[in-house]
Amino acid sequence: MTLLTDDDLRETRCLINGEWITGPATFDVLNPATGQRVASVPLLGASHTRSAIDAAHKAGTNWKALTAHERSGILKCWHTLILAHAEPLARLLTEEMGKPLAEARAEVMYGASYVEWFAEACRRVYGEVIPSHDPRKQLSAVRQPVGVVAAITPWNFPNAMLARKLAPALAAGCTVVAKPAEQTPLSALALAKLACAAGVPAGVLNIVTGDPAAIGSELTSNPLVRKLTFTGSTAVGKLLLRQCADTVKRVSMELGGNAPFIVFDDADLDEAVEGAIISKFRNAGQTCVCANRLFVQEGIYDAFSARLVEAVRHLRVGDGMQEGVSIGPLIDDRARRKVERHVQDALAHGAVLLQGAREPDGFFFAPIVLGDVTPSLLVASAETFGPVAPLLRFRDEADVLAQANASEAGLAAYFFTRDIARAHRVAAALEVGMVGINTGAISTEVAPFGGIKESGYGREGGPNGLDDYLDVKYLCLGGLN
Ligand code: NAP
Repeated sequence: MTLLTDDDLRETRCLINGEWITGPATFDVLNPATGQRVASVPLLGASHTRSAIDAAHKAGTNWKALTAHERSGILKCWHTLILAHAEPLARLLTEEMGKPLAEARAEVMYGASYVEWFAEACRRVYGEVIPSHDPRKQLSAVRQPVGVVAAITPWNFPNAMLARKLAPALAAGCTVVAKPAEQTPLSALALAKLACAAGVPAGVLNIVTGDPAAIGSELTSNPLVRKLTFTGSTAVGKLLLRQCADTVKRVSMELGGNAPFIVFDDADLDEAVEGAIISKFRNAGQTCVCANRLFVQEGIYDAFSARLVEAVRHLRVGDGMQEGVSIGPLIDDRARRKVERHVQDALAHGAVLLQGAREPDGFFFAPIVLGDVTPSLLVASAETFGPVAPLLRFRDEADVLAQANASEAGLAAYFFTRDIARAHRVAAALEVGMVGINTGAISTEVAPFGGIKESGYGREGGPNGLDDYLDVKYLCLGGLN
């Protein structure tokens, strides 16, 4: 196996039909910790996207004709290459996105786990023989790749969100045109570089960077694209859904969350605090499954908030490249302004600052704990996407379930209790796609990831993770008399 040099991995061109191309113009990728330019990448639009779609369409014929074993072999090779380049991939990720290097390393491994999982899963795509309604007919169903897949991904997990889409699509026999977020295209281009080195043929994987509206319009209106898989904000998700309607594309949507994190008075408080730190402050609070509202039962509210404040004091804020840093910068000025607005709104409406500073230092926000938060405040009603833990009190199970479910989002929820009956009741009643019980860390390639309500539909990973990329075709063979 030949390893790529760090320079080779730091690809700044787009991939269309196996060619690395530049564009008529470029835009800058900035390091959010330093504000310095990391690279410039092509500012492409509709016509390049159309070329990428055409290439993906043509390449699909041969790619889907490979045996599952052959596609699996290429994906396994890609997985090996990702692991072999894990350190430079992680450094690139921290440079363009800001998260602490330890988290970037974990993300690269997490992304790679999907490549391995789907390399294995594609060898077990079975059809069905169906008991017939007519002795002269044999009925069966087969699964076939949907065709060209468009993938649009966000900046908060620039490696894993893309790997989680590319792996099942390629494994299923689909070809892909992907558009990474403008803040973090380098992780995507590096993954594509390794995919090419692993033997993914020309046209099977295409990456375009540039104007989101122009690229998005082409991806959603072009009839050759048969599926859109999107991870990002609910607002953009709704727009893309509308745009996909005219060509009736299959769609998977992984959208925003507003996760409740509930601590019942019988919880192990140390475990609950540990869970809150992981769930709330990982990636500086910029994860879709982040605890956004921390509901604490009245009897333990003071004890829990004191312990949480103590734990938060130990979190170190700084450049993700520095050893020991656990909170990096926010991604950009827009994110900083949003977090600031949420904090100011809370403080203006009765919340108390228990820990942290009111103002950020550039893009660096010291982690904040807010007490006495009420449901109508912005920090509780909207996704803050920052290192802010708002604490809300609740009376009993019915009260907290009503509050937790009073959201249009339905991605993840967490709760802590030692009562097994309550664990079952609450898990069943929460209106979300994923529940963490006595844990703040739930993501893994072996389980289905996704939401309900306005958090979207479709599932990534897990035993049925290929289904979103396969069409079921029913065959009715007559004339058997
Ligand atoms: P975003 O603004 O919706 O952007 C996501 C992607 O959509 C980016 O690639 C963006 O491109 C692109 N985009 C924006 N406008 C578009 C348009 N008109 N047409 C086509 N594409 C367009 O979201 P974000 O701020 O990057 O990500 C944070 C959000 O993602 C949060 O709400 C978070 O909860 C959600 N998220 C959900 C999951 C999940 O699995 N449910 C996982 C991670 C994140 P540009 O960057 O070029 O604008």
